[in-house]
Amino acid sequence: CGIVGMVGENLKLEDLVTSLQKLEYRGYDSAGIAYLGDSFGVYKKKGRIDVLKNGLKQKLNDRFFVGIAHTRWATHGEPNDMNAHPHMDCKEEIAVVHNGIIENYREIREFLEQRGHVFSSETDTEVIAHLVEEEFEGDLLDAVLKAVKKLKGAYAIAVVHKNVPDTIVAARKGSPLVAGIGSGVGILASDVTPLLRFTKDVVFLEDGDVMVLRKDGFEVYNTDGVKQQRRVYHVDWDE
Ligand code: GLU
Repeated sequence: CGIVGMVGENLKLEDLVTSLQKLEYRGYDSAGIAYLGDSFGVYKKKGRIDVLKNGLKQKLNDRFFVGIAHTRWATHGEPNDMNAHPHMDCKEEIAVVHNGIIENYREIREFLEQRGHVFSSETDTEVIAHLVEEEFEGDLLDAVLKAVKKLKGAYAIAVVHKNVPDTIVAARKGSPLVAGIGSGVGILASDVTPLLRFTKDVVFLEDGDVMVLRKDGFEVYNTDGVKQQRRVYHVDWDE
């Protein structure tokens, strides 16, 4: 129901959780984060963001390079810890958050299970993590481009990889995504509110866009990997 992604240097976990809290008003049943700092991992919980934050109490000052966060409004699979996002691939190197519905997830899941992928949730979303794993050959953008071509339905996604500490790859079709660059931080979210603390210059992704976000810039591609120009809007309102 809400997505945040942050990439930069010297970011604190608390920044990621606070940014997610800006999306609380959208409503949700679970929340979670994945981040790469000293280690790579996922923390997710059914319930309020406060519950997640409490579980992370000892870690809120930890630093990270890339992080993604999610509030879930369950459509496929009941609200519980396992079905909460982010979702990971088999090797636990890739983490994905997703808003929306993947309509052909059953076919994709069957295909991937035949190829040996083991699933740990009942969500439609988990197929994205395994698809990216299947396609990954060292270039995260390339893997996400190949994966989204196979998806039918509506999505805003953000993907991170354990071995790619400086990049988030995001994509949208039918669910909103907005991104901006602050000082030493690239941030994306489902709406503009989490960005305002960091920047007032924002880019709204369009359907079919795939974005590579770094701490000092971004590129936008279409699903064929052709670079797109997107206008930067200056937002005047305060946080
Ligand atoms: N369809 C996904 C799920 O049920 C995402 C729901 C959402 O947009 O929060 O996990």
